Parts: sequence; structure tokens; C-alpha cells
Amino acid sequence: MEKHEVIRRILLASVFGNAAICVLKILGGVISRSTALLADGSDSLLNVASGAIAYKSRIEAEKPPDLEHRYGHSLLEVYGFLLILMLMVATFSFIGFLAINRLMQGVAWSIDPIGIPFAAASLVLNTVMSILLRRFGRASSGENGVAPHKPRRG
Ligand SMILES: [Zn+2]
Repeated sequence: MEKHEVIRRILLASVFGNAAICVLKILGGVISRSTALLADGSDSLLNVASGAIAYKSRIEAEKPPDLEHRYGHSLLEVYGFLLILMLMVATFSFIGFLAINRLMQGVAWSIDPIGIPFAAASLVLNTVMSILLRRFGRASSGENGVAPHKPRRG
């Protein structure tokens, strides 16, 4: 498999995996009224969005130069990165708002135990996905013998 193709597949796999985790967490957060699950879910949503943007901008960036873009499209990846950065700021502001809101209320909050299976399921899914992605990443780097050492996110 070509290296670019591998990167694309990894990005795509992480988008779908995070989408599933995100649905579980937000659903669980809403049902159980758990701020922690909701905050976690919005973090996963950020992962989905940033993964999708990274995927899309990489595909666009690889296009050869055309009449409108005589110097190629590699700048698109930079714009994609900036967009991801803005989404991160928005998400962490939201999570911060949730946390402050909870602190201000100051009441003892009971979490509906129905949130627990959602949290457990998303944790399992998260673990399986990161193991698969790591294996996949290692296998794809076999040709040149250089192991990719990316910092883990999420
Ligand atoms: Zn173009």
C-alpha cells in the first residue's frame, strides 16, 4: 500500500471510531445527566471533527497544481490545521463552562447509574481502536523500518 493511502485509511478509521465513541458518550451523558460524560463526549466530537478535517484537507492537499492554484494545494492542510485549532478552543471553552457551571451549583450531584454502561462501552471501544490504530500504524511503517512515534491524543 502506498504511504499516503495508509495515512488516509488511518485518518478515516479514527473518524469512524471516534464518531461511535462520541455518540455513546453524549447519549449516555444526556440520559444520565452526567457532566463528565457530556464533557468527554464533546471531546470525542472534537476528535471526529478534527479527524474529518485532517482527512479532507490531506486529500485536497495532495491534488496537483491547477489553474486556480498554480502553487499546488498544500496550504489547505495548514488551513485545516487552523480550523482544528479553533474547534479545540471552542470545545475546551465549552468543557470549562460545564465544569465551572457544576462548581457554581455546588449541590451534591447524583449520577444516574445508567451512564455507567455507556462510559464502559466507550472506554472499551476507545481502547480497541487505539490498539488497532497502533498496530495498523506499525505494520504500515514496515517498509522503511522507521516506527512512527506520534504522541497519543484523547
Ligand atoms: Zn485547485
